[in-house]
Amino acid sequence: RATIYYDEDADRKAIENKTVAVLGYGSQGHAHAQNLDDSGINVVVGLREDSSSWDAAEDAGLAVATPAEAAAEADIVSVLVPDTVQPAVYEQIRDGLEAGDTLQFAHGFNIHYGQIEPPSDVDVTMIAPKSPGHLVRRNYEAGEGTPGLLAIYQDATGTAKAEALAYAQALGCARAGVVETTFREETETDLFGEQAVLCGGVTSLVKHGYETLVDAGYSPEMAYFECMNELKLIVDLMYEGGLAEMWNSVSDTAEYGGLTRGDQIVDEHARDRMEETLEAVQNGEFAREWVMENRAGRPSYTQRRQAEMNHDIESVGAELRELFAWSEEEAESEDEEQEQ
Ligand code: NDP
Ligand code: MG
Ligand code: MG
Repeated sequence: RATIYYDEDADRKAIENKTVAVLGYGSQGHAHAQNLDDSGINVVVGLREDSSSWDAAEDAGLAVATPAEAAAEADIVSVLVPDTVQPAVYEQIRDGLEAGDTLQFAHGFNIHYGQIEPPSDVDVTMIAPKSPGHLVRRNYEAGEGTPGLLAIYQDATGTAKAEALAYAQALGCARAGVVETTFREETETDLFGEQAVLCGGVTSLVKHGYETLVDAGYSPEMAYFECMNELKLIVDLMYEGGLAEMWNSVSDTAEYGGLTRGDQIVDEHARDRMEETLEAVQNGEFAREWVMENRAGRPSYTQRRQAEMNHDIESVGAELRELFAWSEEEAESEDEEQEQ
């Protein structure tokens, strides 16, 4: 079982006299910068000169500089720009890394797949909140925490873990619990999960279900409600109380039908495909493909994304969501969340 750390396992002395450069001020960046700043840690935000986030960071009372300047000044460089641009940003900051400094990440892709190769005399750590940045910030302000992951890739100083724990404490994650993992485990499970189950698997299941009903002559509206809209209600129950709460909340008919048919749909063939998907993650084949895709200007990504937007379920769903007040209310409260 994994080790879980909490506030009492962390000692803020490990970072209290250090300067943290937070590169990027997006989802994670704004939350890390503001939470660390509120925790009394010296923070400088690193942004490119034409960044649209420059004002927002300054308005939050934070010092802002270019990534190169911020990294040169800092002892800990938290790399929170998008994963695909991290290698290019790393080229701008590498000269500012001194022996004993720390490169800190929120996801392991670039380190695990060798897209960033740090010098051997710096620490390389990960504190990865298991949540979007606006929740990391909101929970912190409410005095609560956001669960996170901790991993140490390289411990040049011998103090990498103590420092990472103190970072997790200042970020608020140690209030909720920080699970110890490795760069490899975090990266591979994250990629597998989003490909096979969360993003890829679930959208494919929804589309196939929708198409099966529509092709059999049922109305697209009914197919949308059955195969996409209601998914949220089912997932909410699983989130709250596991599979048991979901099965207990649906009718006996739904439970019997689901228990007998579910494994016939997502069967051993799907399980074989999952193993192949995991293998491509583990052997670096997926990472190579994604790096090359970016170098080529994302042709396949753009085309597939467009095809997804053009799927019938999207236009049917958009019309239906317009019609219903409940979804407008939801959209409004989500907009508020985004603004925070
Ligand atoms: P975002 O896409 O929100 O980051 C955008 C920020 O990066 C902006 O401030 C943007 O500034 C800056 N940026 C973009 N391109 C460049 C560039 N070429 N040079 C300098 N700055 C640039 O990233 P996330 O917060 O989503 O992700 C950051 C890290 O956190 C990733 O490693 C991700 O995997 C990880 N993570 C993300 C989670 C999430 O929920 N989002 C959850 C857990 C981990 P500009 O105004 O200049 O465009
Ligand atoms: Mg993930
Ligand atoms: Mg991911």
